[in-house]
Amino acid sequence: MKKIGRLFFPLISLWLLLGSSTCYAFGADGHRIVVLIAQEHMSAKTKKAIDRIIDNDELSELSLWPDRIRYIPKWQQSKYWHYVSIDDGEQFTDFKRHSDGDVLSALEYFYAQLHNPELSKQQRREALSFFSHFVADIHQPLHVGRRADRGGNTIRVKWPDHPRGANLHQLWDSLILNTENKTPRQYSRHLNQTRTRQQEAGRQTDFLVWARESKALRHHIYDFPQTRYNRAIVSASYIERSKAIIEKRLLLAGLRLAECLDQIFDPEGRM
Ligand SMILES: [Zn+2]
Repeated sequence: MKKIGRLFFPLISLWLLLGSSTCYAFGADGHRIVVLIAQEHMSAKTKKAIDRIIDNDELSELSLWPDRIRYIPKWQQSKYWHYVSIDDGEQFTDFKRHSDGDVLSALEYFYAQLHNPELSKQQRREALSFFSHFVADIHQPLHVGRRADRGGNTIRVKWPDHPRGANLHQLWDSLILNTENKTPRQYSRHLNQTRTRQQEAGRQTDFLVWARESKALRHHIYDFPQTRYNRAIVSASYIERSKAIIEKRLLLAGLRLAECLDQIFDPEGRM
């Protein structure tokens, strides 16, 4: 993994200054919510270990960094790490992987990196930022997408609340999640309170299981009437059902991120 050194800190400061820009608003809030949920569940020892890595920064803000560097030439390769493409008939045990990596290999890589005692503080900070980000990404069902429509990117969607339309991927990335003027912290608390026993039980750390779950949601994601010219018109009830799915995925991602970080930073605490 290459170091980004001096570039990292000015960029972080810039984002903190800008706050949540409109073009990233919901997508960024999704990432923030996952980290904020994780912070409610990780052990005190894990929290301390993380504080030592990121100093006075907020992990919920650092977890946005990977989305913002992917167009920087130095980090070009990282743009492939946010998703994995797999067709309906393919199995995770045997499918064609992208040679520059995907979200599954990136999660494995950064999870291993965070166990590596040789890492510099800067590398550890980057690894933590990438790992926290990708745990959220893999839970967004269209980040485990079909090749033919590039994870929903080539499907235009229209719905009453958004007459200008968007593509299906954007819809699931950011537009479904309507936080109703709650801050990410308030929203993460609200989601945290809705958690069930089943979700607690789903707090396992097998990245393949997470990817399989996302892929298995396609029957809902593509459940809309397709009109001509590859344009879909979605109903208010589709949006409502989708919002419930996204909220469950965010909650699971948060619980699982806490579990993974405890495994890394507080393995004995989990016994
Ligand atoms: Zn991403």
